[in-house]
Amino acid sequence: MVHVTSLAGLPLNALAEPTAATAACDAVVLVAPSPIVKHVGGLGPSVGAVVEAAARADGALESRCAPIVLPAPGVPGGRLVLAPMGALTEDVDDVRSVAEAAAAGFARAIDAGASRPLLVVRAPDAPRFSRAIEVGALAALGSQWTPLEAREAEMAPRTAESVAVLGLPEARAREMAAIEVGRALCRDITGTEPERMAPRRVAEMCEAAFARTGVLVKVERNVDDYPLISAVSRASRVVERHRPCVVRLDYRPRGEIRRTVLLAGKGVTYDTGGVDLKTDGHMAGMSRDKGGAGAVAGLVRAAAALGLEGVRIVGLLGLVRNSVGEESYVSDEIIRSRAGVRVRIGNTDAEGRLILADLLALARELAHSGAADPILFSVATLTGHVYRAHGPYTGAICNAAAQPELDRLDVLAEHWGEPMERVRPRREDYAFVAPRSSAEDVVSSNRLASVNTPRGHQYPFAFLDIASGLKGGTLPFIHLDIGGVSVEAADWQFGRPTGVPIPSLTAYLTT
Ligand SMILES: [Zn+2]
Repeated sequence: MVHVTSLAGLPLNALAEPTAATAACDAVVLVAPSPIVKHVGGLGPSVGAVVEAAARADGALESRCAPIVLPAPGVPGGRLVLAPMGALTEDVDDVRSVAEAAAAGFARAIDAGASRPLLVVRAPDAPRFSRAIEVGALAALGSQWTPLEAREAEMAPRTAESVAVLGLPEARAREMAAIEVGRALCRDITGTEPERMAPRRVAEMCEAAFARTGVLVKVERNVDDYPLISAVSRASRVVERHRPCVVRLDYRPRGEIRRTVLLAGKGVTYDTGGVDLKTDGHMAGMSRDKGGAGAVAGLVRAAAALGLEGVRIVGLLGLVRNSVGEESYVSDEIIRSRAGVRVRIGNTDAEGRLILADLLALARELAHSGAADPILFSVATLTGHVYRAHGPYTGAICNAAAQPELDRLDVLAEHWGEPMERVRPRREDYAFVAPRSSAEDVVSSNRLASVNTPRGHQYPFAFLDIASGLKGGTLPFIHLDIGGVSVEAADWQFGRPTGVPIPSLTAYLTT
């Protein structure tokens, strides 16, 4: 049921010297910086002539950055879709412009009636655009995803049959297609409404998605061994179809395992806030609070499709509905985490960190049971503060042991169009969650919403560090708060899921 369009690479000269593969395409989508006429070299006389004629006729051709369809005799399908990006000469320009133009241009080609477009990406010659073709290819593929509910109701709009990309080597095309398989799974988990994607239905979707991939899927429907997860799910358990589970996805490569990546994903299938109820319209859209679990599942799926070598990947999904009811957990409760740390609940809407803390404790146990060169990640739509602080960027924070790894991931994320904002854990973060009495070891949160709290997305790192039992150890740990990027912010309720940071993490695992 996962939707993915096929992707093929074509050689750089395929438009100048057409082949059967070029002839099978029915539109050309040209993504290029201004002035586009300067970027048509090597694309054959037909493309050059059409672009020059259009630029002569329309002085504002490139200033609007909206794709246009031009009749183009001699071009595959007889149509050229121009997707301008502006000059891209500013310091702050980055490869996201390529993704945006490719997605818009590709969607415009499909609207125009094409079903097998050929994507041509031209970008400035600078390191930050070094992955422009791959990023464009992923954006074109991603633009064809439609919500699972629409596909299951057979109401999905027409999509492309295939995507051809000029200058993308075949092996690279297979990699991009594998990443998109993972992203599509992530979008289906993240974007689907809360009944269709209730906790155990996410588990079923994983079982189906990982069948015949060699990935071991273990679904734990009894969460008694995860006391914090158990507490968050207490009110949901009176409704059978809302009951929680923990999913373990274990990808083991062929041959030698040189390193082990363990990832915890927050999968809150619906977040009412619990008894600290979300009010004033802040609840709508909260079926998308499972984006961390979606990203982790998607990453493991991409790794399996790629057949990644040398690295074992363990994805842990905490799938819980934060319901409200007579069994609800409440603030003031003290719960001993899986790691044995006494956690005082500060606010029931700060449930994501509780789920992650138990998953990270399991990840720590797995790391200490003979794992080769382990590193831990948590991925979550954890706070609103991360968006308040940074806008549409991943908030990345790590312990000292993981600093060189996050340095590397940061550069890759920039090249793959998923830029991160780095923050550091500070002493104030640890002071913020410090115990107030001898009854507890750590406090989960304050009473206020994270957006109204100084260091509202930084201090939860301190909580995770303590409650998971990682603090004082040597394991490298990186926390990625994707609360600002898991879905596009265009709509208060729907917000199309992005699949961030699957491409960056895949690049991190392959390099
Ligand atoms: Zn919450």
